[in-house]
Amino acid sequence: MSRAICLKCPQCRTNLSGENNSKVFFCHNCALAFNVDTAQGKLLPYPLLYINPQKTGALEQVYFPFWQFESRYTLDGTVPTDNSSIRTFYIPAFFIKNINYFGDIGYYYMKHNVVLEPGPFKRLGVFPADRDIRHALRYPQIYLTKEHFPSLRDMRKGFSEVQVKQLKAGLALVPFYKAEHSYSDSILSWKYPSGALI
Ligand SMILES: [Zn+2]
Repeated sequence: MSRAICLKCPQCRTNLSGENNSKVFFCHNCALAFNVDTAQGKLLPYPLLYINPQKTGALEQVYFPFWQFESRYTLDGTVPTDNSSIRTFYIPAFFIKNINYFGDIGYYYMKHNVVLEPGPFKRLGVFPADRDIRHALRYPQIYLTKEHFPSLRDMRKGFSEVQVKQLKAGLALVPFYKAEHSYSDSILSWKYPSGALI
């Protein structure tokens, strides 16, 4: 059963921005993203980063939300330690319909070693964030498995070999350009038909 949660920023008391089905709400005053924890009836705060575009465009811009995780990982089934590799992952905090066809932009950010550079807040709309952190936390392991055990035959093995430990979490707002029937991100200039996003 869902509980009512007070949607005011606990720090500055301004109303949080978000939509009906959002799982994450934003305070642009305090640069915080609040993940709704329905089980506990709580808002859990994460740092909010406003990302600078890397490719320019003349079209209208809107922010798309991505979870940003810094994680340690191993690829041999061992538990990650202080010496294990570290990587930053960006996981869409919005849902993409038919991910097999359109691809997962978070995975391609990883493949292209994208580093999202934060800048000042701009007054843009934010695409609703309806994928909560619990859902997103599985993705670093999924992305690493896809990268290192790409064949379907090896994937099951990959899931037992890839071990991930999260170190830091935040939420990055990436500017996208809005066209009549599509959005394109301002980092790789990928095009997403509007119908692919829910
Ligand atoms: Zn605030």
